[in-house]
Amino acid sequence: MTDRSNELDAWDRDHFFHPSTHMAGHARGETPNRIVTGAEGVYIVDREGRRSLDAFGGLYCVNVGYGRTEIADAIAAQAHSLAYYHAYAGHGSEPSIRLSKMIIDRAPAGMSRVYYGLSGSDANETNIKLIWYYNNVLGRPEKKKIISRHRGYHGSGVMTGSLTGLPGFHRAFDLPRAPVLHTMAPYYFRRDDLSMSEEAFSDLCAASLEKTILEEGPETVAAFIGEPVLGTGGIVPPPAGYWDKIQAVLARYDILLVVDEVITGFGRLGTMFGSEFYGLRPDLMTIAKGLTSAYAPLSGVVVSDKVWKVLEDGSDAMGPIGHGWTYSAHPICTAAGIANLDLIDRMGLVENAADVGAYLRRALTAAVGDHPIVGDIRGEGMLAAVEFVADRETRRFFDPALKVGPRIAAALAARGVLGRGMPEGDILGFAPPLCLTREEADIVAAATKGAVETVAAEL
Ligand SMILES: *Cc1c(COP(=O)(O)O)cnc(C)c1O
Repeated sequence: MTDRSNELDAWDRDHFFHPSTHMAGHARGETPNRIVTGAEGVYIVDREGRRSLDAFGGLYCVNVGYGRTEIADAIAAQAHSLAYYHAYAGHGSEPSIRLSKMIIDRAPAGMSRVYYGLSGSDANETNIKLIWYYNNVLGRPEKKKIISRHRGYHGSGVMTGSLTGLPGFHRAFDLPRAPVLHTMAPYYFRRDDLSMSEEAFSDLCAASLEKTILEEGPETVAAFIGEPVLGTGGIVPPPAGYWDKIQAVLARYDILLVVDEVITGFGRLGTMFGSEFYGLRPDLMTIAKGLTSAYAPLSGVVVSDKVWKVLEDGSDAMGPIGHGWTYSAHPICTAAGIANLDLIDRMGLVENAADVGAYLRRALTAAVGDHPIVGDIRGEGMLAAVEFVADRETRRFFDPALKVGPRIAAALAARGVLGRGMPEGDILGFAPPLCLTREEADIVAAATKGAVETVAAEL
């Protein structure tokens, strides 16, 4: 399919190493490439002039929608006045300080400081290093293991790829490495015993976590990391009571809670943070994606008073913290963050996420809820997923070789709407910009109905 007469197309096949892409397939030109040239609101436009409703917000990150000139202007102004200075040894820039104040003002109670990076992955690397440092300062050098969940997603680094609980991110990379343990996913739809209630399933998850902690020895377990709602693992809100039960187990064994808010931060669930939504009390919080709506790369670790106090007390003995990135608190990115958080407030996007997100799930339910291959429709705020099954009564899943999820995502794209075929299971995911309107939600639901019917007819 490569058009060799077109040099951009040829160079793309020959020289651009795309992430999360079938390498040989792309190089051979077997799959169409897509060169995106512009975007506005919830729509993207490509070089061929095709316009698509991006119901995945890029990668769950374009919270304010595309083409916001307020953020572009803030980036340009900062680039003209001070494009860069580092943040080492007490240096900084005005937007970095102002953004820190804005984040702490919006964060759950008890949060204290923001450490900046450029990606969700590097922020989670920082989290792990801070956790190890924390326990060294406290004189507990053996308390170092980190528990994450099957189907959790925490990044693609060596440590964060290990935390991620998806086989595709481990296979052929010699991961997981490092002292990482995986516990049960809070995935009620995939419970073994179909007769089990949500509360009972939450009890099972908490009991399984506690068993792992006791087997390993609580004195060796430092932290638990989780997303308020599983994202890349399938867009799965936890069953009733889950987080209360998990937090009770962690408190019993003095284990830190890292809440990975990379997707749920800045309005996605209809609250500023997922922690607020589920009553979580994070010791450390990871932020990225919605922090700048991806107008510039920026992430952060939000450190609680409790953890900060220990780190601070330790610094007289340890000296300056030996952890920094050249681009920590990059002024252009933090200026983008300020303009983005202002827009989220001014456009009322947190409220809109709650309102139109719920509407989108109702519209999807009306469109495909009764279809014989639809097993589950779920979500929270501006997150939704449709999970497909071969048999609704017995909840029998499709043979993965049929690629039902990816085919439905492709059929949807052919109708001008972008969702995502999630990596594990036949799941169509949606994470639209938070500015989605009800009319746009109706377009997503109608296209989903068409895509499901087309693929179901081929099966
Ligand atoms: C995307 C994501 C990350 C990783 O962020 P990158 O910027 O891709 O490194 C970490 N945690 C969660 C929950 C994510 O969704």
